[in-house]
Amino acid sequence: MARIGFIGLGNMGGPMARNLAKAGHDVTGFDLSAAAIAAAGVPAAASAAEAAAGRDVVITMLPAGQHVRDAWAAMDAAAGEALRLDCSTVDVETARAVAAGRRMLDAPVSGGTMGAENATLTFMVGGAEADFAEARPVLEAMGRTIVHCGGPGAGQAAKLCNNMLLAISMIGTCEAFALAEKLGLSHEALFEVASRSSGQCWSLSTYCPVPGPVPGSPANRGYAPGFATSLMLKDLGLSQQAAQASGAATPLGAAALGLYERFARAGGASRDFSGVIAMIREMDR
Ligand code: NAD
Repeated sequence: MARIGFIGLGNMGGPMARNLAKAGHDVTGFDLSAAAIAAAGVPAAASAAEAAAGRDVVITMLPAGQHVRDAWAAMDAAAGEALRLDCSTVDVETARAVAAGRRMLDAPVSGGTMGAENATLTFMVGGAEADFAEARPVLEAMGRTIVHCGGPGAGQAAKLCNNMLLAISMIGTCEAFALAEKLGLSHEALFEVASRSSGQCWSLSTYCPVPGPVPGSPANRGYAPGFATSLMLKDLGLSQQAAQASGAATPLGAAALGLYERFARAGGASRDFSGVIAMIREMDR
């Protein structure tokens, strides 16, 4: 079992750290927020450097790229030869910059807070093969699907490509239901057909944006998240930043970002991202 320092005990990091402790690892956490430390319920250190000192593995789970750069600058010396894992969602450039010259993996997740609680997260991992092999038992205590995507930054690249595709497919699904409504086609009929034919996608068949066909989807509970629009906006911003930096054309990714920005401005920021259907129904042609 590993000695693990865990920095960032928020909505995701708190339950992830608890699952590591539950699996028998020796976990010491740290967060700038005393409330987050109390809620996580793992032994805590007085600083990030103290939590990182003398550990086999040091993990960060922080809001954004600048937090990750700052946290590693503050504790890099203390972490010594530890294997470093950053599970936050950040830009590819930050992932590569903090990993340079270190034994470090970028390992962003999907699966949300339920996945963090239930240890069923998906990890998308970038970094050296040997480091990935060493990290695997630690990641297995927090997740179910663990994919090595390539070298440094590849985990973040996979995460932002996937979420850009998700945003586009959700908007497409919402447009299909909005058009069906105008044409007098029932939600159930469109679902029956599209979920079994070439329009099938996760946004339709697992996370349906209208109430009824998929009883567990946020549409059935007034679009309470789920996956909040503000979090989707963060990921779409990262994918557009990466597209610009790499010269990739992503016209639908750019359009999805614009539509979600508009939905957030209209009060949708804390609603589930599938709630964008209400805005699409009301848009002018
Ligand atoms: P959160 O805001 O709940 O938690 C972040 C924690 O980091 C906070 O408790 C904050 O006090 C702490 N923090 C910030 N700077 C710090 C520092 N320098 N040292 C120590 N602690 C510090 O956020 P979250 O929902 O847990 O998300 C964390 C990361 O996971 C983000 O990058 C997010 O994009 C990603 N993510 C979130 C979800 C989700 O559903 N919430 C899903 C997938 C990925």
